[in-house]
Amino acid sequence: MYEHLSNPGAVRRILDQYDIRFRKRFGQNFLIREDVVENIVDGAGITQRDDVIEVGPGIGTLTQVLAEHAHSVTAVEIDRDLVKVLGETLRGYDNTEVICQDILKTDLAGLVREKGEGRPVKVVANLPYYITTPILMKLLESDAGFESITVMVQKEVAERACAMPGTKAFGVLSLAVQYHAAPRIALQVPASSFMPRPNVDSAVLDLKLYREAPVRTQDPDFLFRLIKAAFGQRRKTLVNAAGSVIPGLSKEAVGEAITAEGLPLQVRGEALSLEEFARLSDRLCRIAAKNDRSSSEQ
Ligand code: SAM
Repeated sequence: MYEHLSNPGAVRRILDQYDIRFRKRFGQNFLIREDVVENIVDGAGITQRDDVIEVGPGIGTLTQVLAEHAHSVTAVEIDRDLVKVLGETLRGYDNTEVICQDILKTDLAGLVREKGEGRPVKVVANLPYYITTPILMKLLESDAGFESITVMVQKEVAERACAMPGTKAFGVLSLAVQYHAAPRIALQVPASSFMPRPNVDSAVLDLKLYREAPVRTQDPDFLFRLIKAAFGQRRKTLVNAAGSVIPGLSKEAVGEAITAEGLPLQVRGEALSLEEFARLSDRLCRIAAKNDRSSSEQ
């Protein structure tokens, strides 16, 4: 087995040996602390029962420790040069497979089907920060049936994912995450844990995915159009933000729906819980459908 890589000396040696430079455009900040690596794997609760998908293995620092705990690890890395390195650093870790691909273009459900043995599939990663939100949304919205997603993200992103209504950090990301999963911050991680050192602090965000959404809604797409409209113009009241953005719905109709839900007409989106957004969305959906019907009858 190759030595563990979670220290600055090992990372430098590998980069020199393969004549590789850190690629900023791929968000490459490699972990250099063994305790952080161990804590991520612990936080994700990885056991021999689990198949793991890792996003962006880099030189394989986290991959090695995941492989020591999991049944299998499938790691998706975009950088061809690093895939060559992984051929060496994952030598002897026979339960690992590396796929050279952009995670945003990867068929996740297909990947899980290929494993196909019914074990829980957990995602674990130290994410590239330049595409954190698209990756998170792809993982959350995938129908791959992930049990959990445990990822290193910028501290502010972790706080936004866990934020409650009425707080500054609460927004579209909070509602999107909380529609799919129960979030918690598993670990705070200082910038000194990475090489090169990023300009921001980080945190490990642990998401346990729901089998069923915690709120019922007739039309999730409509719900998220409403939510995006509400936060797109954060300083505006909900009636002004949503009233002008959703086609076919007048400001008056939105205002009436807000009042009918027992909310103040001047309420802002940031004060509404997921449950309240879902109820309002269903009411607006019904009004929009009624408007559609009566305009097509004329
Ligand atoms: N896991 C390693 C570690 O913790 O030391 C590296 C983490 S580094 C923050 C992010 C990794 O994601 C890099 O290896 C980078 O090349 C890779 N990456 C960036 N964009 C990617 C994409 N679209 N698809 C797959 N991997 C990507």
